[in-house]
Amino acid sequence: GNLSAKYEAMIERRARVLGPAYRLMYETPLHLVRGEGVWLYDEEGRAYLDAYNNVASLGHCHPRVVEAIREQVGILATNTRYIHGLILDYAERLVATFPAELSQVMFACTGSEANDLAMRIARAFTGGTGIVVTENAYHGISEAVACFSPSLGQAVDLGMHVRTVPAPDAYRVAGSDVGGKFTADVEAAIADLKRHGIKPAALIVDTLFTSDGVLPGPKGFLAGAVDAIHAAGGIFVADEVQPGFGRAGDAMWGFQRHDVVPDLVTLGKPMGNGHPISAVVMRPEVCDEFGRNARYFNTFGGNAVSCAAAMAVLRTIEEDGLMANSARVGGYLTEGIRGISEGHDAVGDVRGAGLFIGVEIVTDRANRSPDRQRASRIVNRMRDLGVLISVTGKFHNALKIRPPLVFTEANADRFIAAMDEALKTTG
Ligand code: PMP
Repeated sequence: GNLSAKYEAMIERRARVLGPAYRLMYETPLHLVRGEGVWLYDEEGRAYLDAYNNVASLGHCHPRVVEAIREQVGILATNTRYIHGLILDYAERLVATFPAELSQVMFACTGSEANDLAMRIARAFTGGTGIVVTENAYHGISEAVACFSPSLGQAVDLGMHVRTVPAPDAYRVAGSDVGGKFTADVEAAIADLKRHGIKPAALIVDTLFTSDGVLPGPKGFLAGAVDAIHAAGGIFVADEVQPGFGRAGDAMWGFQRHDVVPDLVTLGKPMGNGHPISAVVMRPEVCDEFGRNARYFNTFGGNAVSCAAAMAVLRTIEEDGLMANSARVGGYLTEGIRGISEGHDAVGDVRGAGLFIGVEIVTDRANRSPDRQRASRIVNRMRDLGVLISVTGKFHNALKIRPPLVFTEANADRFIAAMDEALKTTG
């Protein structure tokens, strides 16, 4: 009809002016024009329940963040070459949410930049270059960071200084001893780096292993791997770009579920609820060497407007109890998904922490074979039913469910009904 003709014209315009490297989601792509809370609206005014976009973690266009940005951009928008109170107020408030050892923070604009900076600090501190990551990790898009982001696939070569380890996957690989297996895998990767004359610099993991399929695992399992990288003279970097800012429900930061204290922590995505701001939180001693030799100036990183946005986000999470909401509604949603899944052999596993949930779609429960096609049909069917999710994991078969932290039980009920319908009608 008219609409699809219009869409085709816009898709063609995209290709013409934006080039070939971008991808659209869904078989019928969305043309979104507005967002509010947990809802996204297309150009016809149809509402979609957003269970995917964790950048707008407080909900789309949260009034406190909108107001903070509007106010500050009308006063002053400048950088870290001048003294400014907002960056100090925010930095102090942010580091107060971390264990006492992590007492300093530097600012950038994207998660990729934060991980890039973390690796420069790690190299300066350790004198090494070796990096250990999980098999389907994603840490960002710059040249330096893409080379330790194996989820980018064959289009990007892993660095010679990079080793991958199997993700700590209790369902598919590790069985009951997730921590023991992960530690042994990290030790083997470190040994292989050394065998090739490469000194380890860092183990970096997304603490919910979100691009490996959402693998919260049993609490505490990371401790052995962190000890292993320390014993080898490297540091531990927690990538909190996805798990951070209360999403895990039981902790502000994903690493806190494991009783470990990282050397560096990287933050991004929900930090400004849509405004680009990211950070590296650090143990001061780890940054000494880098700080002595390098000068760090990031034009937009830590600018006053970004700090105002980020301050509004942190205040809202704390004052509105959004972490507790993530725990409560996340638990409710997870149980609801388990409930409807009982009758569907295609659901192999439902796991999560707070409002970050992964659902394994398999050909049948007994053999656990990943079913990428079915997962894709479910995602597209749910989109048609007005509920937005996507997939993750090495086999592209794990449903990735990551709604705003303000999700309610009523939103969860709507989600569960749509997912039940999608499971019933995609067989
Ligand atoms: N780390 C993780 C775990 C991520 O999920 C992402 C983005 N998907 C990044 C880093 C990179 O962040 P950005 O896209 O802001 O550069």
